[in-house]
Amino acid sequence: MIAWLQDVLERLAAWWCGDLRVLCVEGDTLPLKIPQKRLVHMVEDDVSWSVGFTCPCGCGDVIELLLLRIAEPHWSLSVDRFGRPTLHPSIWKKTGCKSHFWLRSGRVVWAEPQPKRI
Ligand SMILES: [Zn+2]
Repeated sequence: MIAWLQDVLERLAAWWCGDLRVLCVEGDTLPLKIPQKRLVHMVEDDVSWSVGFTCPCGCGDVIELLLLRIAEPHWSLSVDRFGRPTLHPSIWKKTGCKSHFWLRSGRVVWAEPQPKRI
C-alpha cells in the first residue's frame, strides 16, 4: 500500500515538475514539430536511431543526438519507470546558444550557470 502511494506521488511530482518524458516514434527521422516537454525517441525495426528535443535554454533549436553505437559521437539513453530519460554523456552545443548540460531522469542539470537572457 505504501509502495503504491509512493509510486502515485512520484508520478504526480514528475508531472507537476514538468520533467521531460520519452515519446517513442517509429522511424529514423525526427518529426518536424517536437512536442513540449517530450524527448522524441526514434526507433525503427527495434533499432534505436536517435533522440530529439527542444533545447532547454529556450533558444528554440531542436537537438538531435544519435544513439547508434557505430555513430560518432553517440549517446546512450536510459528511461526510468516514469518514462523519464537520462542521456550519457552530457550535451554540449558547439554552435548557437552553446548550452552544456546533462539530462538526468528528465531534468536538465546545467554544466555551468547560464547567462541571463534579456
Ligand atoms: Zn539553446
